Formats: sequence, C-alpha cells, structure tokens
Amino acid sequence: MSSNCQPIPIEGIAYNQLKIEKKPIVPEYVPRDPVLVPKANRTVVVNPSRTCMPFGAMFAGLGMHRGLPFVQGAQGCTTYVRYTFCRIFQEPASIANASFHEDAAVFGGRKNFIEGMRNLIVRYHPDVVTVVTTCSSEIIGDDMVSFIKAARKRLIKELGEEEGNRPKLVLVNTPSFAGSHIVGYDRASRAFLETLAQDHSKPNNRINILPGMVMPGDLRELKHMLREMGVDAYILFDISDVFDTPLMPPQTLPYYPEGGTRVAEVEDMGNSIATFALCQNEGGLGARYLEQKFEIPAFIGPMPMGVKNTDLFLKRVSEVTGREIPKSLKDERGRLLDFMADTLHHTMMKRVAIFGDPDIATGITRFACELGMEPVAVMSGTKTKTFTADIEGIVGEFGFKPLILNGSDLFELEESLKTMPVDVIIGNSKGADIAKELQVPLVRAGLFVYDRVGYHKRPVIGYRGGERLLADLVNAIMDFSYPEERTQQL
Ligand code: SF4
Repeated sequence: MSSNCQPIPIEGIAYNQLKIEKKPIVPEYVPRDPVLVPKANRTVVVNPSRTCMPFGAMFAGLGMHRGLPFVQGAQGCTTYVRYTFCRIFQEPASIANASFHEDAAVFGGRKNFIEGMRNLIVRYHPDVVTVVTTCSSEIIGDDMVSFIKAARKRLIKELGEEEGNRPKLVLVNTPSFAGSHIVGYDRASRAFLETLAQDHSKPNNRINILPGMVMPGDLRELKHMLREMGVDAYILFDISDVFDTPLMPPQTLPYYPEGGTRVAEVEDMGNSIATFALCQNEGGLGARYLEQKFEIPAFIGPMPMGVKNTDLFLKRVSEVTGREIPKSLKDERGRLLDFMADTLHHTMMKRVAIFGDPDIATGITRFACELGMEPVAVMSGTKTKTFTADIEGIVGEFGFKPLILNGSDLFELEESLKTMPVDVIIGNSKGADIAKELQVPLVRAGLFVYDRVGYHKRPVIGYRGGERLLADLVNAIMDFSYPEERTQQL
C-alpha cells in the first residue's frame, strides 16, 4: 500500500496536485459475502438511503410561518440537517439548538432548554417553535412536557402574560433510533394538529392537504391544480415560499421568509370538510388524528404521480368539494398521455430500478409501469408496514415481479443489480455512485437531490410533474444510449 502513496512535498501540495488518483486498496475484485448482502442479515447499514428522525420534524417546523425548530440535543444534530437543507434548496435554514455538552448528558437538558427557549423567543419573536428531541435527550430521559411548562412560566414572568403566552410550542418526540426522517415528519404532522387544531364547530368549506416531504415545485403544482378547480385548501407545512424564496431586501428583522403555514390556519384545520395526506407515511398520522378527533374524512395516499394516481386524487377532491375537474386539467392529462405515446419507444420494456422514500418510490413504480417499463428492483430506505404489499399490488396489475427491498440500503440494491442488470435507475442523489459503478443513467427524483440545481423547483406530482419526470427519463436514456446522435433520435 505504501508504494501507492505520493510523497507530500515539504512546501505543501500544489493546486494541480490536489486531484489524487483513486487506486483500489486491493487491485483484484473481491466478491461480497452473499450472506451479508441482504440488509436483514446485517446489523450495520451500508450506504443508507435515509436520514435521522429529527430531520423530518425540522423540515415540518420550517414549513410554518415565522416558525423555528428548537433542537433539544447537541449541535451536530442540527448542523448537518441545516447543511443538508442548504445542499438541497440552496437556501439558509434557521434552527435553534440547546447546545448539549457533557453536563447536559449527566444532569439532563432542563437548564439548556429553558435558557435557550428564552433567548430564542426574546430575540427572534417566532409565532411557533417546534421542540424537536434527539437521541441524547430521549436517552437521558428529559421530561420535555415539564420543561415546556417551566419555559412558559419563565417567559410569562419576563415578558408578561400576553407576550409570554403568544408563541406556540409544539413538542415532537424524535428519538432517531426509533425511525427515520419519514417518521419524524409523520409525528410532527400529528403533534401540530393535536396541539393547535381546534374543535369542529365552524365549518370552513376547505380541505386540508398534508403534502409530505415534497419539493416547492410540487407544492406549486398542487396549488395550481386546486386553483384550477376553485378549491380552497390549507396546506400543512407549506415550505414552497420558505425553501424557494425571492431574493429581496428583508422586510422584517429578524428575517423570516414570507411563506409557511400560519398558526391560525392549523387551528382552523379542525373545521375542514376533508383531509388529504398525499403520502401515507408522511402526514398519514395527522390525517388519522383529525378523522378520529373531529370526524373529518381522511384520504391517505397514494402520491398523485403519473396518470392513475393523479386521476384518483382529482376525482376524490371533486367528489368531496363538489367542484368539477375543469377542461384545463383534462388538457394537461391529455398532454401527458400524448407525451407518453410520443416517447413509448424509449421507455417500453426498459428495465428500471427505483429507490427512495416509501411514498415516492411507490408513486414512481406505478408511473414507470404506466410507461411500459419493467421494475426490476424497488427499494425503500425506510421500512413501512405497507410498502411490500403496495408495490406487489401495483406491479401485479402489470404482470411484473421485482425484487422488493423494504427498509434496506443502497449496498444491497447495488449488489442485487449486479446480477439483475437494469437500463436506468430512478432515485435521489444518494444513488449517484452506484449508477456510476453499474454504468447506467440515474434519473434524479425525491427529497435528497443535492448534486444538481433546480430540481426542487420542478414538480414530479400532477400531470405536468409527470411530463417533467418523463422528459428527464427519456433524455437520460437517450444520452446514455446514443451519446453521439442526439439530433436523430425521435
Ligand atoms: S441520529 Fe441522533 S445523535 Fe445523530 S444527528 Fe440524529 S438525533 Fe443527533
């Protein structure tokens, strides 16, 4: 090994020497131990396609107008989440932290919480603070309910009754060892509705949308469809004008983006006529809570991607609200069908591997089948109770039998694809290395797209989102299959 290393000159490494050639430690290929390939046989996750539970709760909390998450844990639990948001959205994300050190690990985080919450509210005047626990605070056993009461008492003492009671504090318990970012977001949806939604006494003739961890472009597409139908809706955790904001001089100090769901809107969600959770694992808990508590009918999933799922969503909205599906949306559907027919010779019978968060992986699987593609492997990074049955139900309609990995990692997916070659992979940026290794194109979609710009602005949901995803898919296949002949392909 030592003979492969370049000597480092005494005066330092020059700029042109920075790119060091990668050499394998062992030149010959060492086959993997087949017993250790399935994730179920390992206690270690290799190349995970998921992240930690507080991430989902912080995503949710930032979707509130003048909302700030407060993370009860060490700084690292916040820093890497902020970094990931910046990578995906190219926007800053303000998140407060209790700054745990050794003393908090021994004596608990009560002092950090009360002092931190006081500083946050006095300096930033938020409307709502999402209190997000972490592995450490949960293991220490921080009694967050009593901490919140103590912090409130302190605020009232210092700021007076009105101002001390004004900011809402919503507790979301997110011990990361008990689930992924998906679970964190799902828990946040329930926690916000439990804490803020009021009784079902003044019908507002609106619907609630719990969108899940979709992109700003998806939320704009959703609003476009609802606007075309003339439907009024509340959207919980509307990150569209938080993570994709105009560059303008700040109108207020401290600065908050203009977007986000207002506290008053969440309070009124108990008066809506129906709730639509677009992703069953990211908001389903909140929709079920409203159904149990206020008897508001809940429609949970599937994500409105592709033709059938978008049809289903619009049909349900139409039935619930009594609004017609307008010609403009039918035209969008027709355009997607036309585009599918125009590109069928590129997609038909192509073998595809799909991975990502469970709801988007399920939505993409149906769309891929609608395009005539054969799903060879479908993977969710987060294990859910329904993922396997959902995928089997979809592919069964089309006569396919893919490998279904429910709650696995990209190592298992990669090793599986070595024996089951595919033409294309659809997933997020975490799959870039395995696509390179397998020498197939990667079409990026989902939450963690951080090695391309602008993806968060473009939708994958709705008929127009389908057109966009299909264009990406076909272009990737053409680039890969005919790199030199782009002018003569269609
Ligand atoms: S896994 Fe636990 S310790 Fe690690 S960043 Fe997430 S909450 Fe913090």
